[in-house]
Amino acid sequence: MSLPLFLIGARGCGKTTVGQALAQALGYAFTDTDKHLQQTTGMTVTEIVAAEGWQGFRQRESLALQAVTANRTVIATGGGMVLAPENRQFMRERGQVIWLQAEAAVLAARLEAYPEQAQRPTLTGRPIADEMIEVLAAREALYREAAHFIINAMQQPVNVVEEIISVLAQARAS
Ligand code: ADP
Ligand code: MG
Repeated sequence: MSLPLFLIGARGCGKTTVGQALAQALGYAFTDTDKHLQQTTGMTVTEIVAAEGWQGFRQRESLALQAVTANRTVIATGGGMVLAPENRQFMRERGQVIWLQAEAAVLAARLEAYPEQAQRPTLTGRPIADEMIEVLAAREALYREAAHFIINAMQQPVNVVEEIISVLAQARAS
């Protein structure tokens, strides 16, 4: 039960918030692929995209995923990590993949409440709520395909953590 735990899901679903709490509860390390990229390149996600385009960012993101993956580690991934088939395959084979699922309206409300934490350029330049509906429509099937476990992320972070620990324990027992 020491495999890496990958948290996937759209921006605002709680990968960082829940991931830190989950790591603490399990006595695991916590790492964030966006933060790793920021530390290794000295650039923010926004700056990488400005300099190298989304394609350059995606290439770096795949390398970051592999670099941070270790046993006894909770890994918060970028919202678009599932776009590349090789990232989905890598996560599924290497560890347990947990999708923090939330509705577009909930995600948009969180990002609007804390825009400074939304660290990423919007993908389309349109209102967050519209963009969320579109991004989820495009990515939901990929999150579902990549996930070993789907968790309701529209509850308090402490309850999200409890649910994750509970489904992992069930999977272990079966
Ligand atoms: P992600 O890393 O998936 O983009 P964050 O953990 O940064 O998401 O959360 C985005 C915002 O939503 C933060 O302001 C955070 O405090 C808030 N948030 C995260 N999870 C929850 C939750 N379960 N309930 C309410 N607010 C949350
Ligand atoms: Mg995050």
